[in-house]
Amino acid sequence: MMNGLLADASTRLEKALKYTSISEDASERLKHPKTSLSVSIPVRMDDGSLRIFQGYRVRYDDTRGPGKGGVRYHPNVTMDEVQSLAFWMTFKCALLNLPFGGAKGGITLNPKELSKQELERLSRGYIEAIADFIGPDIDILAPDVYTNQMIMGWMMDQYSIIQRKITPGVVTGKPLTMGGSQGRDTATGTGAYYVIQTILPKFELIPEKTTVAVQGFGKAGAVIAELLAKSGYKVVAVSDSKGGIYTENGLDILSIRNYKKEHRGITAIYCEDTVCDIGDHESITNEQLLELDVDVLIPAALENQITADNANNIKAKFIFEVANGPITSAADSILEEKGIYVFPDILVNAGGVTVSYFEWVQNRSGLYWTRTEVNERMKDKMMTEAEQVWAIAQQDGVSMRTAAYIHALNRLGDALDAKGTRDYYVNGSLH
Ligand code: NAD
Repeated sequence: MMNGLLADASTRLEKALKYTSISEDASERLKHPKTSLSVSIPVRMDDGSLRIFQGYRVRYDDTRGPGKGGVRYHPNVTMDEVQSLAFWMTFKCALLNLPFGGAKGGITLNPKELSKQELERLSRGYIEAIADFIGPDIDILAPDVYTNQMIMGWMMDQYSIIQRKITPGVVTGKPLTMGGSQGRDTATGTGAYYVIQTILPKFELIPEKTTVAVQGFGKAGAVIAELLAKSGYKVVAVSDSKGGIYTENGLDILSIRNYKKEHRGITAIYCEDTVCDIGDHESITNEQLLELDVDVLIPAALENQITADNANNIKAKFIFEVANGPITSAADSILEEKGIYVFPDILVNAGGVTVSYFEWVQNRSGLYWTRTEVNERMKDKMMTEAEQVWAIAQQDGVSMRTAAYIHALNRLGDALDAKGTRDYYVNGSLH
């Protein structure tokens, strides 16, 4: 019996199953994570004390290929959250037709409290703890909330030390000098932009008259905010963990990004620093941002931001989920009744894993592509799958979320059925 975030995520699966003809065996298999690993990571702190951190790695399904998924550093990381994120990765990779299953990892901590050296020891310790469960053909890591290129570089290096050979394909989102791909740093936001560019013209929206609010100004949120502002959209509000800023006439996103780049680090900047002086703006809370009267709302921070408690107050006409799981299933129904179009995470934020796939391909072939090549290939994939999801939604008269799950489920079902039930296999053990 499941409960919590994964149970909530699974209700989307149940809803979509009705529209597919996938076998009962396949659907049953997809309701359970394949492997869930919990580890303790001892770290020597700068003051000489020893601190033990709790870490996780979940491989939800690997029928279509090795597991693939990011690693999150956040105080709220739990096994339930990591399993849910691995579940979403499974459907996302199938939706984009990538040869990967779904996985995810995380460590429960507030990374802002650690020094750079402590973070490095922790990241290397995490790889020590999970080394037997990952690899370029087993399970591949990537960045997520509060992890970045530098951390991916340490992780790849540690795995290579353990293996006694350079193994770039075990981690994506690495620095370019360590086998990273051009375009990976901006891939999630850019991919979301291509989805928006595929969908919004169907509603004949004019960018200059379209207002946008973006919650979360990190690797994903800042990029989508900048791309939309550059295309003429009026980005009237952005926020981070400390709160948000709003201005009716549109924010100068480029200045805000430059400010953040100059004041490096992963600490928040809003309303405790001079960014609050950039242009005329009003300070708002994250809750207020979600309820602004805008055309397009982009949650790009964390899960469970729009729930049954605030869904009735949402005024946006379109929501593009750049974060994973920002809307609960209970809120889905309320938003649907209000006639709000929701474009789901497993489609909208899939640009990140798509370019991670390209990075893995480049690592394995040894041939590296230009940023233009990467972006063109990603654009093609994102727009093709967005059109297909749109077509399923129209044909079956379902929401874009259910359509996305139907599309992914058809691919997953075929793969699971082709493999068979493997009923000789001891469920849960590792091969
Ligand atoms: P990030 O760490 O770069 O940025 C997270 C942002 O959210 C920061 O601006 C942070 O201040 C803000 N934030 C944190 N807590 C918040 C809160 N309670 N309220 C409002 N804002 C808050 O992370 P990211 O990589 O941009 O990831 C953001 C979301 O996008 C996550 O849900 C992640 O799973 C998803 N995502 C990221 C990628 C990727 O490639 N980075 C790919 C797919 C999905």
